[in-house]
Amino acid sequence: MGSRRTVLRGGRLGGAAGAEVDRGGPVEPRRAVSYWCHAGHESRPQLASDVVAPDTWECVVCGQPAGVDKDEPPARVGAAGASHKTPYEFLMMRRTEAEGEKLLEEALANLHDSRSSRRSR
Ligand SMILES: [Zn+2]
Repeated sequence: MGSRRTVLRGGRLGGAAGAEVDRGGPVEPRRAVSYWCHAGHESRPQLASDVVAPDTWECVVCGQPAGVDKDEPPARVGAAGASHKTPYEFLMMRRTEAEGEKLLEEALANLHDSRSSRRSR
């Protein structure tokens, strides 16, 4: 695991270094870097050889962050997703449900009233 490099590198802007490097030996234009997500999916994005591989990559299978270290993948984010609701959200759901029933009852009651009042005349 000695391939970790710091991304911070100065002096790359405006230099003509790239043109000189091209002469020495075969240059690999692209390289595949393997990333593993929490679920064990492997993503192998093709990176340009002069690009420093990011620490994490989005898993191509499940969209979770994947890391270069298979044994220690990054933690999942938003894992609960849509199935998870906070107690507050549940409260709001119940409330609107109850309110809806109440409105329906009122509407029915009004309907009944107007009918019965008409009939009683
Ligand atoms: Zn995955």
